[in-house]
Amino acid sequence: MSEDVRELVGAVRTYLQVHGRGRHFATGSWVDVSAVAGDGPVHAPETTPVAEAVPDPEFGREDFGSGTESVAPTRIEAGDLDQLREVWGQCTRCSLAGGRTNLVFGEGAAPADLMFIGEGPGEQEDLQGRPFVGRAGELLTKMIEAMGLSRDLVFIANIVKCRPPGNRDPEPGEVTACLPVLLAQIRLVRPRVIVSLGRISAQTLLSSGTPISRLRGRWHRFEGVDLMPTFHPAYLLRSPEKKKEAWQDLQLVMEKLREPHA
Ligand code: SF4
Repeated sequence: MSEDVRELVGAVRTYLQVHGRGRHFATGSWVDVSAVAGDGPVHAPETTPVAEAVPDPEFGREDFGSGTESVAPTRIEAGDLDQLREVWGQCTRCSLAGGRTNLVFGEGAAPADLMFIGEGPGEQEDLQGRPFVGRAGELLTKMIEAMGLSRDLVFIANIVKCRPPGNRDPEPGEVTACLPVLLAQIRLVRPRVIVSLGRISAQTLLSSGTPISRLRGRWHRFEGVDLMPTFHPAYLLRSPEKKKEAWQDLQLVMEKLREPHA
């Protein structure tokens, strides 16, 4: 484990010891987790409009279909995240701990050029302890494969790691309580691009009340990383006519990933 990662995991452990079990932070505001995530601002949203996407003429299909060329070579080095998973795995910092079957930490490659962030585990995710399984997960897998990637080349996580009862939206205090581990994950995964999935994820990461229909299709920044909001796969299952817009978002992501490293 590198010195940086050892320091980060140690900081998370200290943070849990200091802030203890079941502690809730003030709702509706971002906690200063610099002790966990290192220096720099926790949240510095900015918006960078980019050129309009070229619609995929093939996208009228029922699903995300066949893949394209691979856009981003990625190394897999999961050991450091395993350390973080171990530290956070027994978390009881918010009331969602009481109803979970499994804490859904997230999975995939680290480092990875691309990271997906949804809002929280659903029933199947809670039962299996894995993010994005079930029908929505299958669609996300197709979306990733349509980009020329695979699930094991990206990292997939959620804003909160435990299932909100009845699949309700996570409450601000729950989001705030869970934020340190998400920030630590971002530090370890070191993505070049984050794709937020759905309204809750985009509005939370951007600290915005703007509808997802107006946030998507444009570049934003979170934690110094380019962020593209798009629709949640579960929403796309209910509203398949929106797949075309989601595909436009993913094309912008593919373009970004093809750019040379800075
Ligand atoms: S949702 Fe996050 S903060 Fe709340 S108990 Fe689960 S892991 Fe801990």
